[in-house]
Amino acid sequence: KPAVELIAVSKRYPNGQLAVSQINLRIPKGSYCCLLGPSGCGKSTLLRMIAGHESVTEGDVLLDNRNVTNHSPAERGTALMFQNYALFPHMTCLDNVAYPLKVAGINKSARLEQAHELLAKVNMTDYANAYPEQLSGGQQQRIALARALIRKPEVVLLDEPLSALDPFLRIQMRKELKRIQHEMGITFIHVTHSQDEAFALADTIVVMSKGELQQVGSPQAIFNKP
Ligand code: ADP
Ligand code: ADP
Repeated sequence: KPAVELIAVSKRYPNGQLAVSQINLRIPKGSYCCLLGPSGCGKSTLLRMIAGHESVTEGDVLLDNRNVTNHSPAERGTALMFQNYALFPHMTCLDNVAYPLKVAGINKSARLEQAHELLAKVNMTDYANAYPEQLSGGQQQRIALARALIRKPEVVLLDEPLSALDPFLRIQMRKELKRIQHEMGITFIHVTHSQDEAFALADTIVVMSKGELQQVGSPQAIFNKP
C-alpha cells in the first residue's frame, strides 16, 4: 500500500512554465525516497504539490489511498521542512518544537512532554531553552526536523534539507536523518540534486529530468551497482 500516489500529475505555472509533466508515481509506506535531478527539473514543485502548498494543474494526489488533491496542507497529514528551517527567533527551541501542538490546541503539559521527547530524538535535549540564533546551522536543522515530526505526520517532505550545511555536517546529518526515519517508521521524501546524497539515504530513488519522471528504483538499480 503506497503512502503517496501521484496519478498523471502536471503543473503549469501561471506564466506558462510547465514545471511537472504527467507524473505517475507510487511511494511505498515507510520508505526513504529521494527525488533526484538537476536544478530546475521540477523537484520542489512536485514536493510542494504533495504537501498542498502548490495547486495541481492536472491529475490527482493520493495519501494513504485518500484523494487529497483539493485539500489544504493541514488536512493532509504531511509535514514540510523548509530549506531555511524558518524557526521563530523569539521562541526557545522547546517552544519552537511544541508550536504545532499549540496550534492544534493540545494542553501545555502534554505538548511540553512531547517536545522534550522530540528534542531527545534529535539529540538536542541540552538546547531546550536556547534560542535559534544561539545554534549552529546543523543544530537549527535538528530543531526544525523535531518541529516537523512532532505531530507524527505520515509523510515528511524535505526540500534540500542539507544544502546549507558544511560538508562534514552534511555527512553527519545524513546518518541522523536515516536513523530518525527508520526509528519512527515514517515515509520521508527528500529532494536533492546530489547523487551522492540520494545514494547514501534512499531506499527508493526517483530521478526527474525536465519535469518528467525518468527512472524509479533502488539506489543499486539506479546507479548500476552490484
Ligand atoms: P527544482 O526543485 O528541481 O530546482 P523547481 O520545481 O523549483 O525545480 O522548478 C521547476 C521549473 O519551474 C523551473 O523551470 C522553474 O523556473 C519553474 N518555476 C518554479 N517556481 C515557479 C513559479 N512560482 N512560477 C513560475 N515558474 C516557476
Ligand atoms: P561529478 O560532477 O563529479 O562527475 P556526478 O554529478 O556525476 O559527479 O555525481 C555526483 C556524486 O554522485 C558524486 O560524488 C559521486 O560520488 C556520486 N555518483 C555518481 N555516479 C555514481 C554511481 N554510479 N554510483 C554511486 N554514486 C555515484
